[in-house]
Amino acid sequence: MSLIKPHAYAELPEVFYNLQNWEGFKNPSLVIENAQLKKEMGLQNIEGYKLLEIFNGSSQIKTLKPLSMVYAGHQFGQYVEQLGDGRGLLLGQINSSSGLIDIHLKGAGKTPYSRFGDGRAVLRSVIREYLCGEAMHALSIPTSRALMIVGSDELVIREKSETAAMLVRTAKSHIRFGNFEYFHYNNKPEHVKALADFCIHQYPSYFLKTKNSYEDFFRSVVEKTACLIAKWQACGFNHGVMNTDNMSILGETFDYGPYGFMEDYLPSYVCNHSDHQGRYAFKNQPYIGLWNCSALGHALSSLVSEESQGEILLTYEPIFQKTLAELYQKKLGLIKFNRDDAQLIQGLLDIMESEKLDYTNTFRNISQAITNEETPELNTHIAKSWIKSYQARHKIEPSSIDEKVSLINENNPKFILRNYMAQEAIEAAENLNLSMLETLIHVITHPYDELEQFEYFASRSPDWAKDIEISCSS
Ligand code: AMP
Ligand code: MG
Repeated sequence: MSLIKPHAYAELPEVFYNLQNWEGFKNPSLVIENAQLKKEMGLQNIEGYKLLEIFNGSSQIKTLKPLSMVYAGHQFGQYVEQLGDGRGLLLGQINSSSGLIDIHLKGAGKTPYSRFGDGRAVLRSVIREYLCGEAMHALSIPTSRALMIVGSDELVIREKSETAAMLVRTAKSHIRFGNFEYFHYNNKPEHVKALADFCIHQYPSYFLKTKNSYEDFFRSVVEKTACLIAKWQACGFNHGVMNTDNMSILGETFDYGPYGFMEDYLPSYVCNHSDHQGRYAFKNQPYIGLWNCSALGHALSSLVSEESQGEILLTYEPIFQKTLAELYQKKLGLIKFNRDDAQLIQGLLDIMESEKLDYTNTFRNISQAITNEETPELNTHIAKSWIKSYQARHKIEPSSIDEKVSLINENNPKFILRNYMAQEAIEAAENLNLSMLETLIHVITHPYDELEQFEYFASRSPDWAKDIEISCSS
């Protein structure tokens, strides 16, 4: 395992983490491994069962310096003074084809930050996390990704008794807004500074080292967050638990819990069944992203003046709006900017909302409106005048019809991860049938392809599946 190195984070003083080992499962099994990611990490020559043994806690990997990180965070708007990796360990880092990446083990057992939890994760939730990382990656949305699921025959108690599993997760970084908050609220500005210095040094392609490196660091986090959330909005993704401890400083989607891809377009969509107030509703995500950035700014107040913070936070909205507008333009097959496009897009969203249209399929089929075919979703009286303005708008585009159709197909997935599909794959996997999971992974990792044989994966969820409730109990 010489490819995996101890994490540079372990060079920080021990107030930042707890060095520790973990107990693997007695009868570990290989649920699934990610061949593509394995290759990117240069691990393709190591057999799955061998990797399984390593991540289940072989002596080789324990010579790295596995650690659980301490952090805090705002959960549903309330500050919680100590969170931390309650069931996760940062094992080390590896040089992959896309740069240095972290290897983390989720569900590895108790740590000093487990509070009342058992330190374990259940198969259901690690499959959901695996699936979503792959789905987001295929949609070009920055995300953590899983390398492997280690299964077990051990049971843990949630709302009911469930099988435990571990997820080997990779991400560019596991540093969260909450890591900074922890030291700020503990009145340790020297540790806030050490952590910021660590980030600037560790992620040079994200953070320029300039005269005002702390301001630039904050500016860059704000920019990455605004871009990330614009990408979520464009594909209809609802994270569900946008607490500051689930926000990566590199703007990667992270800590998948009760997430959901919106099906019928509904701005007030809330995927998290425990979010009674709808704080993290789909339409609130852009604002919550800003709120979280301002919480990070506050935690950086010993390094970045209030005035600079205010100026930097003002950049969030224009970056978010511009990124989202560009994404929507491409979704509509447009390359030329036109002042009235925002209105055109809003008009379509309004129709989707009032007609309860499927967000993904309406966009995917929108090219039919310019090739003069019938669009199944927009074949209603109220959509007719919108289609006319859309067609008129396309008349002033320089590109050919074929180019427009390609642009639309490249920017509107045919396949998204619908909750009920994940649920069916999970239930099959719980009964030791993994073929559904493998098929689903194939489909969601080819979201823009036609895949005629998997047409049924592109349909709206059946009515029985619309009410699947996903809570935080993972
Ligand atoms: P999450 O909702 O996964 O972002 O977790 C919030 C906090 O609770 C983090 O500090 C987790 O490490 C911790 N946590 C969640 N589930 C467990 C568990 N089963 N055992 C210990 N800690 C947990
Ligand atoms: Mg979390």
